[in-house]
Amino acid sequence: MPSIAYLECSRCQSHLSAEGVQTLCPQCGGVLYVRYDMAALRKSASRDDIQARAAASPTSLGMWRYAGVLPSAAPVTLGEGFTPMLRSRRYPNLFLKEEAANPTGTFKARGLSMAVTMARHYGLKKLAVPSAGNAAGALAAYAAAAGIEAHIFMPRDVPLANYLEGVAYGANVTLVDGLISDCARIVAERKDAEGWFDISSLKEPFRVEGKKTMGYELVEQSGWQYPDAVFYPTGGGVGLIGMWKAFEEMEELGWVESRGTMKRPKMIAVQASGCAPVAKAFRQGDVASQMWPNAATFASGLRVPKPYGDGLILDIVRQSGGLVLDFDDDQILTSLLDWARREGLFLSPEGAAATAAYDHLIGSGWLSPADKVVIFNTGAGLKYADVIAAAMNLALPTPGHSGREEAEKDHRGMTLPARHRAGGIITPQ
Ligand SMILES: [Zn+2]
Repeated sequence: MPSIAYLECSRCQSHLSAEGVQTLCPQCGGVLYVRYDMAALRKSASRDDIQARAAASPTSLGMWRYAGVLPSAAPVTLGEGFTPMLRSRRYPNLFLKEEAANPTGTFKARGLSMAVTMARHYGLKKLAVPSAGNAAGALAAYAAAAGIEAHIFMPRDVPLANYLEGVAYGANVTLVDGLISDCARIVAERKDAEGWFDISSLKEPFRVEGKKTMGYELVEQSGWQYPDAVFYPTGGGVGLIGMWKAFEEMEELGWVESRGTMKRPKMIAVQASGCAPVAKAFRQGDVASQMWPNAATFASGLRVPKPYGDGLILDIVRQSGGLVLDFDDDQILTSLLDWARREGLFLSPEGAAATAAYDHLIGSGWLSPADKVVIFNTGAGLKYADVIAAAMNLALPTPGHSGREEAEKDHRGMTLPARHRAGGIITPQ
């Protein structure tokens, strides 16, 4: 594993030392990127070593197969990363990156495995995170594994699983009447007095570094070639930023096979219409987003009314020739049930926003069915059991009631098609 050469501000390009703990650029508040001595890495890290290393050592499993391009520290690992890339049964050029296979059931495991690894490396004892839900669950798990205190702040109406895992892993859980932005403000106000290190998205350099492994993986799993497009549900956008960093590094290392011209994938960032600050900024040609008022969607991971990395996300999407799109909850639920019934995959609402985007762009002709596409399902649908059931107006049937009457209409007054309905209950005679 390589030493970090320095940390670089994404905004003003200042260099900082990684000898001690860093947060944001002290000059300008920009996000810090981990930089290595790439000339040395070209000699020491070869893509041929990856499989050999993974086969030889249990500590090189999962995303740690890329230890050659990650910071040098003893990993706090629960087996995250190197998730399956599944070919769609209906669209031969569509591949689904199944992040539900991670510990805690979501892609958040990658960033928090890396960030908690570095927190332990720096001797930090108390970590705090504002979260839309899944980052809190992942921090709680990795902090438990590392023997570090976790303080997590989530909206009161998070999926039950996120509250349950926080409590089960022994984290200090606070539910907030508000959104992730309100949680972030509470952490910022209290962290100095409490001695917490704020492990918020992009406010320290290592969650991006963990998430970048999604970029390495999708290229390796594509035969060391870029697909034509990557669809990514975008709340905080850390994975999108991390993947773009991975592509830059892989090009410097000579790991990406050229198909004629070396062309990075179009990055398609997908939001929910009930909270679409980046999509709105993209359409308006703006370089940053505005705080989205009254954010509301059952895709709880997309309820990020003003992502800290909005400028980076917009810049990357535009550089790639991509798009930022948004879909409403009915469109998301329809795509979720479509994939469950026709592909056998129970996507998270966020992942289903991305599959809805694929259908839309194939339908409009913006993409061709011949284009090779990777869609991220960022988490397991089962982590949202309560919110998806509520969106379907589905409850466990009681004896004597089929459950159909209850499921006939959903709470927005939309009559669900028959294929959305629940079955009845069979009472043993
Ligand atoms: Zn700076």
